[in-house]
Amino acid sequence: MKRIAVFPGSFDPFTIGHESIVLRSLPLFDEIIVAIGHNSAKQSFFSLEKRIEHLNKIFENEPRVHIEEYSGLTVDFCLKRNANYILRGLRTSADFEFERAIGQVNRAMHSEVETIFILTLPEHSAISSTIVREIIRYNGNVTPFMPQKGFEILFNDSKK
Ligand code: ADP
Repeated sequence: MKRIAVFPGSFDPFTIGHESIVLRSLPLFDEIIVAIGHNSAKQSFFSLEKRIEHLNKIFENEPRVHIEEYSGLTVDFCLKRNANYILRGLRTSADFEFERAIGQVNRAMHSEVETIFILTLPEHSAISSTIVREIIRYNGNVTPFMPQKGFEILFNDSKK
C-alpha cells in the first residue's frame, strides 16, 4: 500500500517553515499532498488560485508532492485520497495543545488516519504565515521567510 500523507493548511502564504516540513517528511512517504483547506466564507490574503500556483511552482521538480485544495473535514479528504497520514508541523507548546485536540478528534472520527508531527527547525520556529502577512502589509522584505522558488507568483500583479 502506498504511504500517502496529507499536509493540510491555509498556507496563506506558504513559508520556508512549511517547505521544510514537506522536504523533511518526503523520505517517510511515497506521496505528500499539500492540501489547501478553504472556506468560502473566510477571506484569505492571497487568493486560492495564487496559493495553488505558488505551491505548484515550488514543487514543480518534485513528482511525489501534489497540490490540491479541499473544503470540509480533513479526514474526509484523506479518505477520498487513500491517505492514511495527516502531517502537521509543531513550533511551540501552543501548537502542540491545539494540534493534540484536533489529532485526537480526527482519530476518533477515522482511526485509520494517523497524525504525524514533525518538529520545526529552531530557525523556523518564529515564522508563521500571519507574521509574513503583517510584514507584507507594511511593505517589509519577506524574502528571507519564503521558499526561493515561486516568490514572484505571489506579487506579479495588483490582484492578491
Ligand atoms: P493552519 O491554518 O491549519 O494552522 P497553516 O498554514 O498556518 O495552517 O499551517 C499548516 C501547518 O504548518 C501547521 O501544522 C503548522 O503548525 C505548520 N507550520 C506553520 N509554520 C511553521 C513553521 N515555521 N515551522 C514548522 N511548521 C509550521
